[in-house]
Amino acid sequence: MKDPEGASDEGGGKAFSGDAELPLPLERLSEGEIERKRCIVRITTYVMRDLTSTFLRSGFEWMLPVVLSKSTDPLWPDPGASIEKRIEVEIYDETVRATLSMIIHKMVACSLTQPRLFLLSPNIRIERRDRATSGVHIYEFTQLDFEVRDATSEDIRILVEGALHGLIDGLRRDMREELTSLSRYDGLRPLRVPFEVYDKEELEDKYGDEWESQLAAESRDPVWVTNIPREFYDYEDLEKGKWDNYDLFLPGFGEVLSGARREWDYTAMVRKMERDGVPPENYRLLLKLAREGRLKPSAGAGIGLERLISWIVGAQHIAEVQPFPKIPGTIYDL
Ligand code: AMP
Ligand code: MG
Repeated sequence: MKDPEGASDEGGGKAFSGDAELPLPLERLSEGEIERKRCIVRITTYVMRDLTSTFLRSGFEWMLPVVLSKSTDPLWPDPGASIEKRIEVEIYDETVRATLSMIIHKMVACSLTQPRLFLLSPNIRIERRDRATSGVHIYEFTQLDFEVRDATSEDIRILVEGALHGLIDGLRRDMREELTSLSRYDGLRPLRVPFEVYDKEELEDKYGDEWESQLAAESRDPVWVTNIPREFYDYEDLEKGKWDNYDLFLPGFGEVLSGARREWDYTAMVRKMERDGVPPENYRLLLKLAREGRLKPSAGAGIGLERLISWIVGAQHIAEVQPFPKIPGTIYDL
């Protein structure tokens, strides 16, 4: 695989403020900070209950996550990737990798067993140390990851819009006290759906290379961005060079979700792996299923839960919403 450290420094809107103060571990918090942490915990509980209930009500099945596998997300090429080290270990004479994302597992399970699935997936990404102060990067986080067989990108966008709209209304109704104590009640306005959709090329023409931070700074509502060149598993129209994928950007914050309609064609996948320098031997099962026609078309996305909660509570640094902060470059006891 090519060296992902060559990736550009694009990231979320807050991502390059570079001045976020680093959160302390629990045992070093003052009384006031502990009280703030308690509010964040109550909001986290609400967010998890609300979103998982929404998925269950919509007929999704809940899958348990995995942590070690032969195949994980290559996270390459992705303009936002900034991985310093990939965790690979030998067990039972085989090399396995710590989960970077469960995209491969989602595609396989969605094709073979669960046409509408979601899960809470722990991801380990050893982000470069200079991301410590970005305010939006941690080296362990959780994705609310989901996938739907035969869905279109629009189906997924509508689903996410409905889920977030309901979540914010619910938080304003049921968590007013906590949001007020975090000084976020007035700032967290009800969402207007559908969200605007922009093509990445359009945004680059308008804002240049800084489009992500400009977009986050200027928009008052969440916005979708489509057509982002990245990993082989996102669907790409190879003739037109257009990608059927999407990111969701939150106002004043930046990227919170990435997703796509998926590639399921064997030849296209192999062609893209070759082009991008991604080793096909790390994706042997996925390629076998695709070659046998057992991989089904699907679409889905992953929401970074800590980012979503960080935006909701107005955290200075995303690690503030973690019980045990995982700040790039800093290892606390727990
Ligand atoms: P990706 O598919 O790589 O975009 O990851 C899916 C989502 O996970 C992103 O949209 C973010 O919300 C979240 N995410 C990715 N990397 C990190 C990180 N280092 N720290 C916190 N959240 C992250
Ligand atoms: Mg992304």
